[in-house]
Amino acid sequence: MASTEIIPGIHVIRGKFAGEFGFIASYLIVSEGEALVIDPGTAGDPGDNVVKALKDFGLNQKSDLVGIVCTHGHPDHAGGAGRLRKSTGAPILIHSGDAELLRDPSSFLNERLLMDRAQRLSMKFDKGPLRVNYRGIEPNSFLSNGQQIQVGKLSLRVIHTGGHSAGHCVFYESTEKMLFSGDEVNNFPNEPRKFYVDLSGSIVAKLAALDELSKLDIDYLLPAHDVPALFGDVSLQFEGVRDGVIHLQDTILSHLEARGEADIEQLEFDIRQSRSVPIPVTIDALLATTIRVTLDGLAEAGLVKDLGKGIWVMN
Ligand SMILES: [Zn+2]
Repeated sequence: MASTEIIPGIHVIRGKFAGEFGFIASYLIVSEGEALVIDPGTAGDPGDNVVKALKDFGLNQKSDLVGIVCTHGHPDHAGGAGRLRKSTGAPILIHSGDAELLRDPSSFLNERLLMDRAQRLSMKFDKGPLRVNYRGIEPNSFLSNGQQIQVGKLSLRVIHTGGHSAGHCVFYESTEKMLFSGDEVNNFPNEPRKFYVDLSGSIVAKLAALDELSKLDIDYLLPAHDVPALFGDVSLQFEGVRDGVIHLQDTILSHLEARGEADIEQLEFDIRQSRSVPIPVTIDALLATTIRVTLDGLAEAGLVKDLGKGIWVMN
C-alpha cells in the first residue's frame, strides 16, 4: 500500500526519504466517494503514488478527484501538480502569490532564492527535492483567505499565512480538528526550530500566522515534511517554530551589534560559526535568503537599517 491512513479518510502518502527534508508528504482526503489531494509533491514522487492510492480505494482517478490543492508553489510540494493533473484531470488550486512558481518553475531559482550564478547553476543539477525538473502550467483557480474547500462531507478553510512564501496557505478542518500546515509550521524533521523562507516570504507574516494558528483547536497537525505529529501537544510544535524565528532574529541582532556593520555573507558566516541556530545545511541559499528576509522584517520594526549596497547596521 502506497499510503497510510492516519485518521479515518485521511491518508498520508510519503515520497522518498530526502535527507534533511525528511519524507515529503502528500495528503489524500477521501470522503463520500470524493477525493482531494493536498500537496502533490515533486514531479512523480509521491504524486504517482496518489494515483495508485486512488485505485486502491476503488476511486475513479478521472472523475473522483475533485482537486489538487497546493499549500504553496515550491518544487518539493507543487512540482508534481502538472503531472497529476494530466493523469487525473483534476483542477489545480493555489494562492495567486505563488502561482508564478507554477507558470514559470525557473522563477523559484531566479526570484525566490538569494544566490549567485554559480549557486544557481549547481542548483540546476541538484538531485534534491528542490530541483526544478518540470514544465510550467497554468493553475485552474486561485485560493483566497477564508474560502472553504469541500470534499465529501468535509470542509477545509483556507488560511493565507504568507510567511514561508508570499502565497503560502494552510487548511483547517474543524470537525476532525486537523490543520494541513504545509511548510509554515514544522519544516524540518525532528527540529521544529529549523525553518527557511523564500524571498517573497515575510517573518512578520510568519509570526502573525503562528499566533493566529496556535489559537485554533487542533488535534492533528499535518505538515508537508516528515511524519505528522499525531500525538502530544501541538502547541509545543508552534512554540518550537516561533522559538526558531525569534532566535534567528536575536542572533542576527547580536552579530550586527558586535560587528557594527555587516553584509549578509558576514552574518551567514557568523551564524554558521556560532552553530547556535539550527539552520538548513543542504542548500546554502536557504540560509542567506532567510537572513535577508529576517533583516527586512527587523527593518520594518525599526531595529536595523540598510545603508545601501547590502550593508546593514543597527538602527
Ligand atoms: Zn516550501
